[in-house]
Amino acid sequence: MIPFFDMQAVQTALKPQLSEAFERVSRSGHMILGPELAAFEEEFARYCGVRFCIGVGNGLDALALTLRAWDIGPGDEVLVPSHTFIATWLAVSMVGATPVPVEIDEHYMLDPRCLAERITPRSAAVIPVHLYGQAAPMDEIREIASKAGLLVLEDAAQAHGAMYRERRCGSLGHAAAFSFYPTKNLGAMGDGGGIVTDDPALADKLKALRNYGSKAKYVHEVSGVNSRLDELQAAILRVKLPHLDDWNERRRAIARHYTSRLEGLEGIETPLIAPNNEHVFHLYVIRAREREKLMQFLASREIAGAIHYPVAAHMQGAFSMLGIPANDLPLARRAAEEVLSLPLWPQMRIEDADRVIEALHDFARR
Ligand SMILES: *Cc1c(COP(=O)(O)O)cnc(C)c1O
Repeated sequence: MIPFFDMQAVQTALKPQLSEAFERVSRSGHMILGPELAAFEEEFARYCGVRFCIGVGNGLDALALTLRAWDIGPGDEVLVPSHTFIATWLAVSMVGATPVPVEIDEHYMLDPRCLAERITPRSAAVIPVHLYGQAAPMDEIREIASKAGLLVLEDAAQAHGAMYRERRCGSLGHAAAFSFYPTKNLGAMGDGGGIVTDDPALADKLKALRNYGSKAKYVHEVSGVNSRLDELQAAILRVKLPHLDDWNERRRAIARHYTSRLEGLEGIETPLIAPNNEHVFHLYVIRAREREKLMQFLASREIAGAIHYPVAAHMQGAFSMLGIPANDLPLARRAAEEVLSLPLWPQMRIEDADRVIEALHDFARR
C-alpha cells in the first residue's frame, strides 16, 4: 500500500526531539502564550525574512483575522482565485465581505491578466494563493493592486519555504497567512496557523485580536476571538522548522523524478513550474483526461491518489447565494475536473515513487 502522505515518517525520524519538546512544555507549566510561542514567532519571522509573526489557531483564522485587522467587512469585496482550498473564500465570508473570483493561469495561480477587470470601487484586498507550493505571479499582482489601492494578503498555507525572485513566500505582500495543519510542508501535531508581516501596527492589532481583543489583561478595546497557537504546537514547530529546507529539497527531488518519468505520457500532463520561482511541491498535481478511471486504477494497485480540489469554490453550495454562473470561470472549472495529486512526502522512497510511475504507464498502455 502506498499512502497519499505518511504522517508517521516524520514523527519517527524526530521522535527524541519531539519528546524533549513535550517534556519541556510539560515542565514549564506554560500552555498558552508562553516562551515557546514567542520563540517560534521570532524564528519563523526570521525564516520568512519579515519582522513579525503572530501565531494563531489555524490557517483559516490567520486569513480572516488579517482581513478583520484591516477593517474589511460588509460592503467590501476581496479578490480571490476560484481554484483553491475553500478556506481562502471562507475567510472573506467570515468577516462579512464578498469574495470576487478571478480566473487562474496555466500554473493554477490567480491570473493577473484577469485581475484588473474584476476590480470595482468596493474592492479592498486581493488574496493570491501560492497553490500546491509555488508562488503566484506576485510582481504583476502587486503592481495592479498598488494602482487600485488594494491590500495584498498572501495565502501561503501551501508554500512554506517557497521562493519568488530570491524572496520567501510570506514576504511578498502586506501580510501572509500560513497554516500549520499536520500535512502542510511545515505542520504541527494538531491545528495551527500564523500571520507574517513587516507592519508593526498590523502585528499589534493581530496580537490583540487573537486573544479576546485584549492587550492588557481584562481590558478589551476591540471584540477579538480566541485563536492562539498553543505552546505544545509551537514547541513542535520549533523542532521541525530547521528541517524544512531539507524536506522541501526532498519533495523537489521526488517531483523531478516523477516529471522525468511521466512527461509526455499519453492522457496526462505533468505540472508546470512558473518562472522566477522555487517550487516546494506541497502537492504534485497532474492533469488526467480520464481522472476517475485513473483514480480507480491506482486504487486497484493500492496507491492512494487525491483530488485538490474537486469543485471550484464559486460552484460550492456555501457560495450559491453569490449567484456566480458556473461558466464564469471555465479554466477553474476544468481544473477541478482534471487535477489529480500523486503520493508525495519528504521521506517517500524513490522505489515507492517508481511503483506509482509504473502504474501510470500501465494505465496509459491498457
Ligand atoms: C490548508 C489551507 C488553508 C487553511 O488552513 P487550516 O489550518 O486548515 O485552517 C487555507 N488556504 C489554503 C490554500 C490551504 O491549503
